[in-house]
Amino acid sequence: MKEPMASKKAHQASGLAAGILAAVIVVHEKAGGPYQLLAMLALLAGAWGGTAPDWLEVAWWRKKYRGKRRLWIAHRSLTHWGIPWVMLLWYAYTSFNSVWWAPVAFGFAAGGLMHLLTDWPNPMGVPWIYRRHSLSMWRSGNLEFVVILLSWGLCAGVADGLLFKGANTTKLIALCQSQLKSFSEDAATKAAPRQLIRQSKT
Ligand SMILES: [Zn+2]
Repeated sequence: MKEPMASKKAHQASGLAAGILAAVIVVHEKAGGPYQLLAMLALLAGAWGGTAPDWLEVAWWRKKYRGKRRLWIAHRSLTHWGIPWVMLLWYAYTSFNSVWWAPVAFGFAAGGLMHLLTDWPNPMGVPWIYRRHSLSMWRSGNLEFVVILLSWGLCAGVADGLLFKGANTTKLIALCQSQLKSFSEDAATKAAPRQLIRQSKT
């Protein structure tokens, strides 16, 4: 059976975004350690965690079956469960500066959660709390760039909110609005001259 699943590439790309965001948070919380080494490790752990829920379910110690590794649990079950990932994220966050590896675990958990978010829209869904839930938006593999774009947008937005109190996001929205406004004004002025001519004649 061919499993519907978001491709490894999509998970790598969104995991990297999660890793960068985790690193930003680690630096922001002044938990980066000497030379921000722990922040850099958080970034790597995020990229690694982005694919973790899929490779954690592979029984690598067992022999291959028809050229494929077998899984030790059902696909998208335990390793795709939201609660342990959120707990790890929370534990790591509250342990900054008291447990040395907390920033690394934080990055890993951020990557793992991003993986669940990336799997969420496709039909099989993700067991966040109890039962599987799917956003049923598309078959994974399709519209992959949308998933990647959304994940990067989400991370950029959170990072901006954290570092600049959302100033850049507000600017971006304002820019879009002004573009839209000038576009509609343009359309209005193009229609205007005839009216002006008519008015000047009378
Ligand atoms: Zn997955």
